Amino acid sequence: MKRPELITIAGAGLVGSLLGVMLGKRGYRVQIYEQRPDMRGQQVSAGRSINLALAERGIHALKQAGLMQAVEPLLIPMRGRMLHDLAGRTEFQSYGQRSHEVIYSVSRGGLNELMLTAAEDSRQVEIYFEHELDSIDFASNTVQFTDVSNARPLTVSTELLIGADGAGSRVRRSLLPFVKGTDRSELLDHDYKELTIPPGAEGKHQMDRESLHIWPRGGFMLIALPNLDGSFTVTLFLQKQGNPSFAELSDRPSVESFFRSQFPDAMELIPGLVDEFFANPTGILGTVRCDPWLDRDRVLLIGDASHAIVPFHGQGMNSGFEDCELLIRLLDRFEDDWTAAMEEFNRVRPADADALADMALENYITMRDSVLDPRFGLKKELGFRLEREHPARFIPRYSMVMFHRIPYGDAKRRGIIQQAILEELVDGVESIDQVNMVRAGELVQQRLEPLGESALA
Ligand SMILES: Cc1cc2nc3c(=O)[nH]c(=O)nc-3n(C[C@H](O)[C@H](O)[C@H](O)COP(=O)(O)OP(=O)(O)OC[C@H]3O[C@@H](n4cnc5c(N)ncnc54)[C@H](O)[C@@H]3O)c2cc1C
Repeated sequence: MKRPELITIAGAGLVGSLLGVMLGKRGYRVQIYEQRPDMRGQQVSAGRSINLALAERGIHALKQAGLMQAVEPLLIPMRGRMLHDLAGRTEFQSYGQRSHEVIYSVSRGGLNELMLTAAEDSRQVEIYFEHELDSIDFASNTVQFTDVSNARPLTVSTELLIGADGAGSRVRRSLLPFVKGTDRSELLDHDYKELTIPPGAEGKHQMDRESLHIWPRGGFMLIALPNLDGSFTVTLFLQKQGNPSFAELSDRPSVESFFRSQFPDAMELIPGLVDEFFANPTGILGTVRCDPWLDRDRVLLIGDASHAIVPFHGQGMNSGFEDCELLIRLLDRFEDDWTAAMEEFNRVRPADADALADMALENYITMRDSVLDPRFGLKKELGFRLEREHPARFIPRYSMVMFHRIPYGDAKRRGIIQQAILEELVDGVESIDQVNMVRAGELVQQRLEPLGESALA
């Protein structure tokens, strides 16, 4: 049984700061070390994407932390995908079928700042900015940091260190060799680049504000999420090498001609396209899978540090927030016995994270390619109908992941069965009225066990 006097967290990003809030609320003393300067009141990049999609799992965790009311003004609902074809025509595909089944665009910086302040306001949490974790000395239970403001080294004793230091986690890189664990991290062969569609006249959004916009082009895509100031953050996802690729977009004419041929309507809305293209960094994407996520009851990994994923399901932050909420639930269950809570966390969570990583990779193909297939629309319509008729058994996979808190492993497993049912029912069928709904009911009853009450909440 262990109840630490002081908890050290590496990283005050989205997950580290939320965990700080939650642990502070629970009465723990927490010290967070963050390598970047304090982003509040300064122009400090929040890193990675400028805005993100927040969904049910993240919202639930924010509610548990008592933060949702403060977060609400930062949110813009996105009710579905707005697909843009080459000719500039648009088609809206709803994400869900109930009014509350929406996801929300939120500013990464705005959300992070709010959580930093909430953590400090608890008076239980101290945040040391510009402190970069270098390494862990397991023999002496100490951590080496560098104060980057003056390049001075600092050694800190830790009872419990939680690594919330993101996909490139130094905590993970120190931990895994020490515990002889495995790291199966993989980079994606596609990168990303962010651009901006500025606000239009009177600060209004220049495209539908309540949609996640996608320009699916088969092997690559452009997406855009709305910001509160009337702008959209646009992201190009494209392979590193080949045709077309980031490697080919090496000068002004190649960027202009690529956008003119592939995204002419979006290009018109991005006035600083080429300058921004070369000024903004090209980001890398990847999946982190590692084992274990802990060393006994003294080091634990959380969020991207243990399970970074590609961003195509909009779940990286949401799953990291769910990690925090799960950890607190386990502390409730084990009455703050950290040894037991950490063991259980490490027993149940990696399989779900693994399933999510697979679904996120699959969703890249869905977003950039499958959404264009008329059969995709038919299966989506049928999926909604089956959900209406068999709500306790059939929930479309996207909805299980985004609008429910069904464990990711179950969502993946049920999603495979559901996909097979949908394929069978639309075989040789042109429209939804031709689907044999009696057979549909039989298949659902035979192959899908009912979901538990809690899954349907
Ligand atoms: C393009 C893109 C789009 C995305 N879209 C979505 C989305 O729509 N929805 C969603 O849910 N998720 C999305 N994600 C995923 C999401 O960004 C991550 O899952 C989330 O940021 C993870 O939070 P984290 O706190 O674990 O890691 P991070 O946000 O990476 O935070 C880690 C923190 O640790 C600090 N740090 C790192 N190393 C050290 C060190 N050595 N010492 C001290 N501090 C350190 C960093 O400065 C940072 O502040 C997206 C990701 C990308 C790249």
